[in-house]
Amino acid sequence: MHKCIVIGTGPAGLTAAIYLARANLSPLVIEGPEPGGQLTTTTEVENFPGFPEGIMGPELMANMRKQAERFGAEFRTGWINEADLTKRPFTLSLEGGEQLRAETIIISTGASAKYLGIPGERDNVGRGVSTCATCDGFFFRGKKIIVAGGGDSAMEEANFLTRFASEVTLVHRRDEMRASKIMQDRARENGKIVWNLNRTPLEVLAGDNGVTGLKVRNNATGEEEVIDTQGLFVAIGHTPNTKFLGGQIDTDEHGYIQVKPGTSETNVPGVFACGDVQDNKYRQAITAAGSGCMAALDCERFLEHSATHDWSQTL
Ligand code: NAP
Repeated sequence: MHKCIVIGTGPAGLTAAIYLARANLSPLVIEGPEPGGQLTTTTEVENFPGFPEGIMGPELMANMRKQAERFGAEFRTGWINEADLTKRPFTLSLEGGEQLRAETIIISTGASAKYLGIPGERDNVGRGVSTCATCDGFFFRGKKIIVAGGGDSAMEEANFLTRFASEVTLVHRRDEMRASKIMQDRARENGKIVWNLNRTPLEVLAGDNGVTGLKVRNNATGEEEVIDTQGLFVAIGHTPNTKFLGGQIDTDEHGYIQVKPGTSETNVPGVFACGDVQDNKYRQAITAAGSGCMAALDCERFLEHSATHDWSQTL
């Protein structure tokens, strides 16, 4: 049985693993289908403190992994498809049937950005297509870009991107916005934002140097149009990766895990959450790493307090 299993290897999970390993708790870290998390899909990370020249996302994550391994964290590739959190020790079922048991669990499975699912989109991630304005906006200084979406995220990203871009075109599939009035107003007041509503994105066009345009259907006329652009920011929401929990952990109305304020504790004692799976607001590598540290410290304290429990009775 493991003292702690960390599920997910983004900045939150790896930071938790570093802290747990240094506390001699020998964490088992489960690495899913996207080792390193969302940062491995970005290029240069310029806002993670300690790297004045910036660092490539995959390299940053590889370094965090090495650091966790150095202190004794054990890694395993696998996909958890079920969890039994009704009694301790907890049981996690891996795809293939194997079961893992742990006194504590740290959930750091992140959230996946939703994509439009159109041709040319995935092929051009890192070549003009992005799902993170904070990460990649800086690379579009003086360029024309598109933000796709009609919710608060799209408004926020469009506004933010006008700091860099010469022009931001907001493309939304309907005439009406889903975004709150205040966020819409803020975007409407921004003279650098061009509105292209009632357009359904159909295809990302690209050349040797990356994205060149977005083909859309004008839903009023039914005609296809091409909007010239050097970048496409897809801002149509995120999905927190919590399906395997089967509703045993409390979430908010968007599916994000709810933690007790100022802690990483979930509604199940001994189960902690950190990173984007519990953060719909900041979603930054550094905040994820910070929450990973919190989860490890909360977990350590939990294990200290339950040290008198006789686990052999439940094996
Ligand atoms: P959201 O509210 O679910 O909006 C998603 C938008 O993307 C919708 O306009 C939707 O169009 C569009 N969309 C979804 N799938 C699409 C597809 N396949 N093709 C084209 N368009 C598609 O998501 P969100 O904007 O990320 O916001 C999520 C939550 O976070 C909301 O509660 C929001 O208020 C909150 N949030 C708050 C702030 C803030 O207050 N600062 C900032 C960001 C997010 P339809 O409208 O046609 O469905």
